[in-house]
Amino acid sequence: MKQIIIHNVSVELEKKRIKNMYLRILPPDGRVHISAPMKMREDEIIHFVEGKLEWIRYHQDKISRRPTHQQLQYMDGDSIFIWGRNYRLHLKEAISRGKIEVIGDEVILYCKKDSTSEQREKQMNQWYKKSLEAEIPFLIARYEQIIKVQSNSYNIRDMKTRWGTCNTRTKNICLNLQLAKKAPHCLEYVVVHELVHLLERSHNAVFKSYMDHFLPEWRKIKKELNGAE
Ligand SMILES: [Zn+2]
Repeated sequence: MKQIIIHNVSVELEKKRIKNMYLRILPPDGRVHISAPMKMREDEIIHFVEGKLEWIRYHQDKISRRPTHQQLQYMDGDSIFIWGRNYRLHLKEAISRGKIEVIGDEVILYCKKDSTSEQREKQMNQWYKKSLEAEIPFLIARYEQIIKVQSNSYNIRDMKTRWGTCNTRTKNICLNLQLAKKAPHCLEYVVVHELVHLLERSHNAVFKSYMDHFLPEWRKIKKELNGAE
């Protein structure tokens, strides 16, 4: 595979036995991948990409705002977000994998000396899950009363592309673990959004009018979560 730079955009070029050229923007980093026919000349490809730069940048921007874009190593000094606030991660050595403390602007994570970034991430995610579990039941109960719907259960998952889902048949609501990193009103918005699905399954005008009614500022919060659409 060849790498070419076109107007500051790095493009992976793959020649294949195909008839047409295909351009894709790939998650999680928004890299540009082009599959081109074997015989296509490079200047033709560059010309094609130049014509698509605006589209490429738009989609890269969108991907960068997806829930799991931020790939942290959980090293000492890393930025950690909790409920929309920025903290500095401080690793402290412990004999066994242990607790997490939030003191001032610091998140103190007690871990073994040889812990891996995956282990630290897992530890942090468990903590995020607990923080969400402390908020979600109240939010759901409150909005079930307001919206006059009844959900059955909820769960928390680290999802790649969605902030929440609602199974209208089982009435189970699934919420993204990453919401613990965002401002509290983001969690509120996703809870309301999923509960409104119990009234209206699709994102149509009816759905939007319910949202306007139950959470008037929802469009602003949606933009904050997903970027301009
Ligand atoms: Zn939805």
